[in-house]
Parts: sequence; C-alpha cells; structure tokens
Amino acid sequence: MIDSFNRNITYLRLSVTELCNLRCRYCMPEEGVCKKRHEDMLTQEEMLLAARVCASLGIRKIRITGGEPLVKPNILPLCREIAAINGIEEICLTTNATLLAPMAQQLKQAGIDRLNISLDTLDEAKYRMITRGGELTAAIDGIKAALDAGFQKIKINTVLIGGFNIDEISSLADLTKQYPVDVRFIELMPMVDNRDFGPEAYVPNTVVLEELPELEPLPHDGSVARLYRLPGALGKIGLISPVSAHFCAECNRIRITADGKVKPCLHSSDEISIKGLDEDGMREKIKSAILEKPQWHGELSYYEKSRAGRSMNQIGG
Ligand code: SAM
Ligand code: SF4
Repeated sequence: MIDSFNRNITYLRLSVTELCNLRCRYCMPEEGVCKKRHEDMLTQEEMLLAARVCASLGIRKIRITGGEPLVKPNILPLCREIAAINGIEEICLTTNATLLAPMAQQLKQAGIDRLNISLDTLDEAKYRMITRGGELTAAIDGIKAALDAGFQKIKINTVLIGGFNIDEISSLADLTKQYPVDVRFIELMPMVDNRDFGPEAYVPNTVVLEELPELEPLPHDGSVARLYRLPGALGKIGLISPVSAHFCAECNRIRITADGKVKPCLHSSDEISIKGLDEDGMREKIKSAILEKPQWHGELSYYEKSRAGRSMNQIGG
C-alpha cells in the first residue's frame, strides 16, 4: 500500500513479546518490564490475523522481533504459520542468539529465511556489562549453530557506542572474513530511558570509515544500509545511520507491538490499537496507520530524544 508520501509499505516488523532474557542497557530497564496482563497482549491468533491482513495490504516481508522472540512459547508454530501466509515472500527473525543454538535447525525448518543477530562486543566482560549479565559464549554458539543449520546471509547487528565498542570495530568487522556473515554497524538511538549513556556515546557511523580505510564501497541494494566490503571478505559491512542520516524518505515499514498497537513510525508516539478487532476492523486500522505514517521522525540526538513513548523492547527494534 502507498502511504501519503508516496512510499510503498511492504515490510512489517511484528513484535511477538516484550520479554527478554537479557537487559541491554540501551534497550530496556534493569528491572525488566512490568509484565502486562495476558489479556492485554495480542493472542497468537490475533498476531496471525494481523500478519494476514498486512499481507492483503501489500506487506511482502515480515520480521519477527521483540523483546526476545526466542523466549516466546510457541515461537516455532507461529513462525511456521506466518511463513505459510500467501503473499509473504520473506520472513526474518531478529535475536540476541543466546537461546538460538538448540533452536536454529527448527527455526530453519519452520520457514525462517534469514536471521539478524545482535552482538555489540567480542569481549566477555563487556558483553556481560552491556547486556547486564548475558554470556557471550551462548551468543557465539548461537551464531555457529545458525551457520551449521544452513542459514544464509546472516546479519550481525552491532550498536555503535562511543566509549564502549569503537575500539572493536576492526575485530567485529573481521567476522566478515571468518564467516559468511554481514556485519552492520547501527548508530545508537536516543530512547528516553537510555540514562546510562551521555552525549559521547552517540557517535556517527562515519567513525567506521575512519577506523577501516580499506573498506571498498559496494552498490546500493535497496536496503537502508550503505554497503562496503573488506578486501577478500566473505560478507559485507553495512552502515545504518538512523541518527546522522535518517532514511525516512525510503522507509517502507510499519510495526505492530506485542500489545497490539500499530506504530507507523518507530520514533513517533502515534499508536493505533488493533487488539480485539476482527479482520475487517484490523484492515481499517492498519490502512489508516499506513496513511498516517509521518514524513520523518524529527531530529534525534542526545538532547532530542526519541518520541516513541516506549523502550525499544516494547516496540520491536
Ligand atoms: N532481542 C532481539 C535482539 O536483541 O536482537 C530483538 C529485539 S531488539 C529490541 C532489536 C534490535 O534493536 C537489536 O539489534 C538491538 O541492538 C536494537 N536496539 C535496541 N535499542 C536500541 C537503541 N537504543 N539504539 C539502536 N539500536 C537499538
Ligand atoms: Fe533484549 Fe534485544 Fe533489548 Fe537486548 S536488545 S534487551 S536482547 S530485546
């Protein structure tokens, strides 16, 4: 469906849970989230209905996200049913990979086409610090299991944080030489509750180009990343710059949260509820959400925080 600014909306990010086994400092509060009442969350049937309605409105790609999708009971049947929806050409899943090792094969069999895996450091102590207690080895085991299961085009997503992982840009990028994976550096987005980060944490992605002058530019592939390759590497390096060079003019996505709110824009507080609606009701609301998608998300910086009104685990990053 075409929105009011002539963008073709073909991509849905469906958050299947707000819960997570980690507590990344830029994403969710230390105490976790106040668990909402079961009856306030979308049921599995409602998630499927919403996905079907979106497909009927022109959505062709669905990313399953959260929270951590792999903590959701019944994630496998949910993936299987979404993968079977007419019109859906690609189904992807974003995960921290710490629970992935025993599930990778089953996710592949359930129809997941591609995985995005979040990994901000290769240092065990720093991993524990940024995730508030996570184990790096579990994430690495997850990545290896995904490769063994035959997942192609795995993307490792690294949030760039000044004073934390700039010194690891080179070693993280080297993963593209060791494994057939892409590594994408994503600018830290200033969510309202990111109290652990001062102005120095918000560094533009150009720092990657300064650290890796040997990067060779690649042609644009229609995604939101600017693409490069290290000489001889198996995978690509992507730079995603939501803060320093927003990509709103090409944004083709909408989001649905686990509690049933359609968010036309990640950084806007606009939310349209589809909880409890039948198919026609959902179609009307999702259509109007697409038509209300704002032109851009407004300035973002340490001083001008996101107007999302939720933490990232409650949106589905
Ligand atoms: N739990 C899964 C994971 O971590 O991959 C999926 C959900 S997580 C909210 C999705 C993505 O959002 C992760 O790659 C995470 O790094 C990113 N993210 C969360 N908060 C962010 C922030 N403030 N700025 C940039 N990226 C953020
Ligand atoms: Fe959990 Fe992902 Fe948020 Fe980290 S980024 S706390 S893994 S939802």
